[in-house]
This record gives sequence, C-alpha cells and structure tokens, in this order.
Amino acid sequence: MSRTPRYFLQSYGCQMNKLDSELVESRLVASGYERAGSEQDADVVLLNTCSVRQHAEDRVWSRLGVLRQEKRQRPELVVGVLGCMAQEHRRYLQARMPHVDLVVGPSAFGDIDQQVERARSEAAARRVAHEEAVQKDPRATPGGAGIVTVDHGVSGDTIHRDVRVRPHRSQAYVSVMRGCNMPCAYCIVPTTRGAEISRPIAQIVEEAQRLCDDGVTEITLLGQTVNAYGRDLGRDVTLARLLRALHEIPSLRRLAFITSHPNFLNRELVDALAGLDKVSRFLHLPAQSGSNRVLKAMRRGYTFERYVARIELLREAAPDYELHSDWIVGFPGETEEDFAKTIELMEAVRFAQSYVFKYSPRPGTLAAEQGVDDVPDDVKAERNRILLEVQERHTAEKNQALVGQVEEVLVEGPSKVEGRYSGRTRQHRIVHFAADDPALIGRYVPVRIDEALGHSLVGVRLAENAAEDGARARTEVRA
Ligand code: SF4
Repeated sequence: MSRTPRYFLQSYGCQMNKLDSELVESRLVASGYERAGSEQDADVVLLNTCSVRQHAEDRVWSRLGVLRQEKRQRPELVVGVLGCMAQEHRRYLQARMPHVDLVVGPSAFGDIDQQVERARSEAAARRVAHEEAVQKDPRATPGGAGIVTVDHGVSGDTIHRDVRVRPHRSQAYVSVMRGCNMPCAYCIVPTTRGAEISRPIAQIVEEAQRLCDDGVTEITLLGQTVNAYGRDLGRDVTLARLLRALHEIPSLRRLAFITSHPNFLNRELVDALAGLDKVSRFLHLPAQSGSNRVLKAMRRGYTFERYVARIELLREAAPDYELHSDWIVGFPGETEEDFAKTIELMEAVRFAQSYVFKYSPRPGTLAAEQGVDDVPDDVKAERNRILLEVQERHTAEKNQALVGQVEEVLVEGPSKVEGRYSGRTRQHRIVHFAADDPALIGRYVPVRIDEALGHSLVGVRLAENAAEDGARARTEVRA
C-alpha cells in the first residue's frame, strides 16, 4: 500500500505570504496530504517566496541549489516555487532550474492541490526518463519546470478555508484583498500580485466567524493597502464598514489590520477606529520619507504636511493609537536636506516603532528602470543608523512611560528567556513576564509593567481582575 503523500512548505515572506502558506496547506490537507517533519521526509517541497527584498530572494536561490542536489538523489521529489518569485522569475526558473517541477504565482493558489498532483505524476514520468538518462551520463539532472501557473490561475481567496489549519490557536490572519493599484516607484507588488481585488464583506465575516467559533479571539486583516479595501466593489464597501461588521462577532476580542496607506486614512475610518473598542490601538502607516521631493519621486501621492494632517485627524479622535512606520533611506537623489526632513517627520509624529530599509533597486520597478542608485552605500548605512537611533529614543521614552501601568496582554508563548512567557498589548507592544504554564497561551492576562527594555517591556502577571480596575489592590501571580 502506498504511503500518504507528504509535503514540506516553507515561507520566506510577509504576513500575506504566511497566510497564503496556510491556505495552501489547508488545501493539501483536504486532499489527503500530511505535513512532513523535514524536507528529507517529504514527497513535495514547496517554497513560498517573496520578491520585495533581495535578501529574501537570495535565501530562496540558495535553498534551490540545495534542492538540486537532493533531487539528484531522489528524482521522484517534487519541488515547487510559489509566490512572488514564481511570478517574477518564471522564465528564469523554467529555463535555468530544470529541477523545479511547479511554478505558481500568488494569485493562483486556489487549486494548488490539483497542480501538485499533476506535478507529481509528471515527475514520476520524468523519473523513468531520468533513469534512462543516467545510464548515459551519471551527472544528469532530472528535468522539471513542468507546470507554470501565474497570472490566470484560481485565486487563493476562493479556497473555503479549513480554519483548523493554522499555527496559533487564538490568533489568525484573514486576507481581505489582493494586489495593489498604487504606483510606488520602488515596489514590485503591483507586478507580482496584480491589481486590487477585494473580497466581499459577507465572505470575510463568514470566515472570521468560523475562526472565532474554533477559538480565535484576535484577527488581523491583511491587504497591501488594506485601508483602500473595497474601492473595487463600490462606494458602500469600505474598511470602516468591514470593521464594524466584524466587531459584531461576540467572541472576537481584538481586531487589527495591516498595512495602511496614508492617502486612505479618512474621516470615516478615523471615526470607526475611535469608536470600535475591539480594534487594536496601533496603526501601521508607512511614511517612507519626510522629503516632499523624494515622496514625489517615490510616487507616494502625499506630502510631509498631508501625512501629518492625517495623523492629527486620527490623534484628535483617538489619542491612544500608536503609529508604526516604514522608511527607505538612500532613495535615488536623496540629499542631506531630504534626509533632514525625514528626521523632522519622525520627530514630529513620534512613532512607537519603525522599520528602516536601505534602498536597493528591485528589477521590474520604475525606480530600477531609471537606472539610478546614486546614494553611496556608506551614506545609506549612516542614514539607516541615524534613523534607527531616533526611533530607539522614541520607543524607549514611550516604553518608559508605561512603567507602573497595568496592560492587558494576549499571551503568545514562552519567551527566549527561560521561565518567561511573552505576549502583546493592544498597542502591539511585546511584554515578557515570569510564567511556566502552557495553558496561558491564548489567554488575556493583566500584567503590571515594571521595566522598559529597548524593544519590549517586562512585568509581573496580576490576578485576572486587576486590569478592570487599576486602583484595586493588585495581587502578583508567581510563575
Ligand atoms: S502602496 Fe506602494 S509600496 Fe505599498 S504595496 Fe502598493 S505599490 Fe507597493
């Protein structure tokens, strides 16, 4: 009797990429596959890839090199490249990577199980051919790149998600839209993921309800420009309306969404954020630069002043929101004056958290096609360092201000330090506290903050009624 086929799936990208992997897994499990403990134990190895940064791509190319060797030993192994690199580099994969059997773009995961099945039977046929080939040349590599589906496949969002296939019991991602219609000059996403396609509100609410029925209490909505949600579905469909609909699910306790674009932070959304108490108190709103000249070259569609005005709108209505940002330093043409404006914006808004990236041209983007990358690497590195230093000062000040407060923490699991568990507050801050009880994972516990570290907080878990009334006598809970 043949054994149950096994897959090994590895994600190399963003949250959207990880959610795609869950959808692919749920489809494979529904078709009778089981997860392998390791690559060596798998019949099918799938790499779900990301094109946004060179580093992520490099890791995949090196993995594919290892898999080429593996396939020489096991010609029946099926190797698949999924996601943004599959879309972006399909021709290269077909031409130069004959050991790759399956190339599937991010908008074509809906029937991934059938594609894997086809790839397996084609690989079996190639195995026979390979055995004949090695008779003549022992170094022969099995031929691959049999199936390539990129632009016109069945979208992963059509998968009726098996909500039981997920890595965390109490937390889940839900995709609300695919693609992006924005023209940012440095970004490959519109090419790899295509134009915006939003899912109907009813479909998202149904999926969220099933997740909550299965024990999820925190949902994070995903979209490349999540606050542009619904504009392809008509004027009545907006992120604000979606948040209000999801807010009605009784067992849902926290609702977050990433990533937002400054241009779509409007009055309707701000009112929803202020009024819906289940919505987490942080907003990821990448500014990228503070220089109007650079923002124009990036084609971001806003100015320093407009960005600040949007934040003021939010802070007037909901002062408890923390802001997170992404920044690119060393964009082509960025001068010292431009960079000074970026620092000015950072100082003006005082973000809780920032990711800083040194500009590197990504093939296929407008900025790369213009062929200019004129800020030297050492200048990029220095600007990167300065920006991180400013951010760390702001983060430290904000964390320090929380010492002595009681925060509600959703426990995520053991921390790296033995004898401690970690979780997140409603403002997405990481909190560590002494504990040694796996039953805490997924629970909301009150933690008194005793110490502010650079990027996280350390506290003491309190008896569970303490967060409801900060003035009440607080009982520490020992690990
Ligand atoms: S908004 Fe700009 S940076 Fe974000 S995904 Fe779209 S094109 Fe890329």
